[in-house]
Amino acid sequence: MPVRALIFDVDGTLAETEDLHRLAFNRAFEIAGIDWVWSRDLYARLLRVTGGRERIRFYADETGAADIDSAALHRTKTEIYNGFMSPGVLELRPGIERLIRRARDGGLKLAIATTTSRANIDSLFGATMGKGALDWFASIRSGEDVRNKKPDPEVFELVLADLDLPPEDCIVFEDSENGLRAAKALSLPTVVTPSIYTWDNQFSAADLVVRTVDEPFSMRELMPEKELSDIPESLRDLLFAQMV
Ligand SMILES: [Mg+2]
Repeated sequence: MPVRALIFDVDGTLAETEDLHRLAFNRAFEIAGIDWVWSRDLYARLLRVTGGRERIRFYADETGAADIDSAALHRTKTEIYNGFMSPGVLELRPGIERLIRRARDGGLKLAIATTTSRANIDSLFGATMGKGALDWFASIRSGEDVRNKKPDPEVFELVLADLDLPPEDCIVFEDSENGLRAAKALSLPTVVTPSIYTWDNQFSAADLVVRTVDEPFSMRELMPEKELSDIPESLRDLLFAQMV
């Protein structure tokens, strides 16, 4: 079955955005006069909770800070994050822009399925490929569109309905176990590129685990038990064929 659409997660998959998010959370806490500082180790644990507002609420509950206004804090954090995001602040992960352009040139549909806010997608593209590149995406679904965030598959259900395609015609790109679980709940073929904050997640359900999309042969290190022939042909065509 040929691939007809690529569906991308945003944070950690398109770019290593998570540390910028962490710094924005800390700045928002400082502005609100809250003495929380999320370290990298703590943030790695908190990332198991998808959605920024939900993450603040979770930490407030965990630390007994019941009076925290998670919605207001999250609004401030999003403004700060989007203020940080300017050209040169960060790059897309290796191979991502090439893959998106190649897919577009090849007539594949493109989509985004994320739990992040829509404003964060716009600012990331504004700082990298340009906001105009978002017009190439047939479906963009973000945190605002769903009631249940990943690992719930709701965001992928919306994208599949937008694309009007069955799961087997699509390939999902994810960096986290929560994202992988959401995709696999709908049997979506999934490529995982672990990121700074997700390298120790469990990815055994993935069809392919590679360091970055332009290093498909890194599967030898990351999935030593798999042979090239175990990888679905559509995936091999998409990623391995671009090496030659
Ligand atoms: Mg992610």
